[in-house]
Amino acid sequence: MKEKIKIAEVGPRDGLQNESKAVATEDKLKFIDLLRQAGLKNIEATSFVKADKIPQLADAIELSKKLDFQNRNIEYSALTPNLKGYEAALHAGFKEVAIFGAASEAFTKKNINRTIEESLSGFKELTDKAKVDGIKVRGYISTVIACPYEGKISPEKVQAVVSRMQDLGVYEISLGETIGVAVPLEVESLLAVLLKNNKPSFFAGHFHDTYGMAVGNVSKSLEMGLRSFDASAGGLGGCPYAKGASGNLATEDLVYLLENSGFDTGVNLDLLVKASQFMETTLDKPILSKTYLARKKILGL
Ligand code: MG
Repeated sequence: MKEKIKIAEVGPRDGLQNESKAVATEDKLKFIDLLRQAGLKNIEATSFVKADKIPQLADAIELSKKLDFQNRNIEYSALTPNLKGYEAALHAGFKEVAIFGAASEAFTKKNINRTIEESLSGFKELTDKAKVDGIKVRGYISTVIACPYEGKISPEKVQAVVSRMQDLGVYEISLGETIGVAVPLEVESLLAVLLKNNKPSFFAGHFHDTYGMAVGNVSKSLEMGLRSFDASAGGLGGCPYAKGASGNLATEDLVYLLENSGFDTGVNLDLLVKASQFMETTLDKPILSKTYLARKKILGL
């Protein structure tokens, strides 16, 4: 039997949050449904942030009302920046939420005007409440290899944030290579430190494809035991720190790599291409994932 890999599809949240064009709620729901049809089982649907902060996701409540939370085959999650966002997510029906921090002080200061420690202790109430409510909490750590303001980040700094998030009770930590500059050798150095203290199953890889290194970084992570990865259909979501650069690793590229390396993703690549094509039309912006383009041609789409 093939070994299963968890793919967290972050297109509807991380992807659309970083696209300049806002998408209508019904188009988001159609996109999510197409992702579900393609076989994706973990879908990050939205974020409960202040509407004026991220207008692209201002419809979180409206969207959540139409999500099929009864479907046991799918786990929807939502990003929750604070207790208020968490309460809204809980009320909407989410059974999983995500909190976030960064390994870079400069990045944290610039984004939320707090220190790393202040930002993490700010989640304590939320995670305590989630424990009582039986809600799963996932942790994101940004800038695990490099920061747009601070440059290279040491693995020890990442480990310190991992330990703090672990204290908060997250079940998995997604390691965000926010600007997409890392090469496999750097991923190896980072994981070598983190895996001294935790099992590979505690981590997920979240790579960006700015320099086309994301697939190589996934390969290295697989070699080191990781079996959980984030990706965004079609690679949706630009990178706010590198103009014109591509954003998240495209789910198509990830699925192609994994399925042809003997793993089971549960995803039908051709149906996934159709989901991305729907967003390509909706956003009126070309999708550049290599696998997407190749399959589209083969399928005659
Ligand atoms: Mg991302």
